[in-house]
Amino acid sequence: MAKNVSPYPLIGKCIYCGADDLAAGLTDEHVIPKSLGGKHQLREATCVKCTDITKRIEGYITGSHLAVFRTAANVFTRHKKNRRTEFPQLLRTDNGLKEVMLDAKTEHPAPLSLPHFNLPGLLHEKGSAENWGDVGIGFWIKHEISTPKLPTGRVPMYHEEKLDFDLLGRVIAKIAHCEAVNFLGIDGFDPYLPDIVLGHRNDVFNLIGAIEGRYAPLEADMAWVFAAIRKQNKVLLVYCLRMFANMGFANLDKIGPPYFLAVVGELHPDKVNLFPRIFIDTGTLSIELMATLKKVKPVSNN
Ligand SMILES: [Zn+2]
Repeated sequence: MAKNVSPYPLIGKCIYCGADDLAAGLTDEHVIPKSLGGKHQLREATCVKCTDITKRIEGYITGSHLAVFRTAANVFTRHKKNRRTEFPQLLRTDNGLKEVMLDAKTEHPAPLSLPHFNLPGLLHEKGSAENWGDVGIGFWIKHEISTPKLPTGRVPMYHEEKLDFDLLGRVIAKIAHCEAVNFLGIDGFDPYLPDIVLGHRNDVFNLIGAIEGRYAPLEADMAWVFAAIRKQNKVLLVYCLRMFANMGFANLDKIGPPYFLAVVGELHPDKVNLFPRIFIDTGTLSIELMATLKKVKPVSNN
């Protein structure tokens, strides 16, 4: 396929609320947040109001949730010079919990927590869910904390984190929606996710989830793939995202992060032929998504 002169497509209206008031100004939108290392952009693709909202939800995962982890993994930051290098960590000791300051790049375990979501409610047999359901939380670490003074050499760390599933789900929704606009154009599908991204719908779990009980290989690169599934006479566009796997984790069990899923919207009939296969059951779809992701070129540069 020939390369465009500009690598980034011009959209010309807000991909979330549809505003095309050019006087008010439209800004470029990073497909994967810049703070997570994303480079690919949609040009003139968000209005001021919606940019405020997406910045806020991205700030949740890139700010507090990922601060230590991003420093340890050396992920892009706007403030490289002022970046903190030491972060607190709680350790379990005989006298209870003790806080120590550790260097993020060499010492800090830099835990990354991610939820093991269920399938998006829309892909359940009955087509919806009431809530997020039972969701386990996994965590991955960059470094074991070690000391020669201990018999085992390893210091038990203490890690507890309350994740905001809705906010994390909205970030995944944002990435999925941007990728779909990039892939199919703004008119290639009826989008479901803008209302999720903008916080107009509370049932994030109906559109966002993960392949149940399956985890990426620990050293797999960031990658994504689209697929189509038929549900109640509609052909739905599904997005599967593998991220945070290739970060050099020190976990011993070698289980990587989840495969996140998003139901992006309904495919327009003229786009259906882009998909050689329209799935009808989610089990087959999940297996195919994971198999395809194995072959996909990494998009860490996306
Ligand atoms: Zn907007």
